[in-house]
Amino acid sequence: MDVSETIADGKRCTIEMYERDPEEYRGRIQCVECKKKAWHNRAYILVKSGSERVACFGARHVEGCEASTVKHEFTDGLDGEEPEQSHDIYIDLDKAKIQSYLVSPPSDKKERSQTNWGNTKSVIEIGGNSLFPASKSLRKILSYLDRNENFGDKGQTIKIVKDSGITLIDGQLKDYLVKFEDIKREHLGKQKIFWGTINNVNIKDGTLWINYGDNRNTYEPSIKCDEEFKFDLMKNFNVSDVMDLGGSDVIIVSRLGYSTRGKPLIHATFTKYMSFRKRERVN
Ligand SMILES: [Zn+2]
Repeated sequence: MDVSETIADGKRCTIEMYERDPEEYRGRIQCVECKKKAWHNRAYILVKSGSERVACFGARHVEGCEASTVKHEFTDGLDGEEPEQSHDIYIDLDKAKIQSYLVSPPSDKKERSQTNWGNTKSVIEIGGNSLFPASKSLRKILSYLDRNENFGDKGQTIKIVKDSGITLIDGQLKDYLVKFEDIKREHLGKQKIFWGTINNVNIKDGTLWINYGDNRNTYEPSIKCDEEFKFDLMKNFNVSDVMDLGGSDVIIVSRLGYSTRGKPLIHATFTKYMSFRKRERVN
């Protein structure tokens, strides 16, 4: 999309307007047709001389939305198709390998083929008589949730252990999964698995804010990442520009806090407690 509109009053916002004043529009725009939240995105497209970055607006459009001329899809090979039997889940964060989060031009096929997303085994094997016969990484859970947001409602249990076997989460998956838009006061201080689509990011005084919506309002959650975490994130997820995180899905194990202004805050601690799936422009 080349044009979006403001959520508050439906005022037109073009790419040019957005780029002239990103502070004004970040987290405050939507699709003009289906009214879904939109984000500003700079994608690589193929041109005669190779590839170049062009800006557009992305959104998770309602199906059939006429404005969805540019498609943003996951290109990581995880299709989110659930196995026939729904297994319980065990994740050992200590042993979980961080998967690569690629931001590379589509022309760069060589690099892409060398990074085989599908082969990245991120969860430990639990053998024998374990209560947790199958294991899925956070990232895989995120892919299931993309396809079916009620994925956790089948009675699966989840156990996540961290350093030296300390249990972080242990119980019914449905009791732990919280979609960004469903965050409430009652989640305060509780260890949860938060997930959803990142609309935009901003950096203030060295702190990286990963925002579900408008970072200035008091009801849409943000993930707070200090400077050190930001560098870890860029390194461990292979992110060259954090601004590219807009439109990605994220999943994070953390406790919910609230800012003094009353805004829900999820504090990011270690990159192994979170994962991303990036939507890339596919046409
Ligand atoms: Zn739309």
